[in-house]
Amino acid sequence: MARRKITRCGKFRCEKPAEAGGLCGEHLEEDRIQQARRERALQALHRWPEVENPCPEAKEFLSEFRELQKRWHLVCDVQIEQRSREYLPLEEARYASDWCISLGADLLEAIDAVQSGKRPSSGLEYTRGWVNERFANLERGLMSNGVPRPTAGADSR
Ligand SMILES: [Zn+2]
Repeated sequence: MARRKITRCGKFRCEKPAEAGGLCGEHLEEDRIQQARRERALQALHRWPEVENPCPEAKEFLSEFRELQKRWHLVCDVQIEQRSREYLPLEEARYASDWCISLGADLLEAIDAVQSGKRPSSGLEYTRGWVNERFANLERGLMSNGVPRPTAGADSR
């Protein structure tokens, strides 16, 4: 057992040797792709996803994106002002921004798919499910996980 000690990839359960950044080549690439789709979603949420000649299905996804963008703007306002607004408590805004980016990225991919005549991936349905559920809980005055909000007292509306 005179095997040379090698550093393993930092991803859970990955046995491959690590390259730069403490990850194996495959996981480095995966991270890079994740980062790129996140960046793209951020840009689109801040501006608007430019889609040339959207097909009817793409138009539906774009109107869903429009709704998501309204939430995104609220998330940004709360983070900029550092105080709760409407249904969004300050302490949930950081997470809500990630939910918007996740759903935004999936919507953009679904638009790409239908625009090239493919079916959108089933991942969208899953992401849409959990993101909408969290926002629905907030809109009902609960925490995003569905439990009642702690009563702060000072925050009377
Ligand atoms: Zn790996």
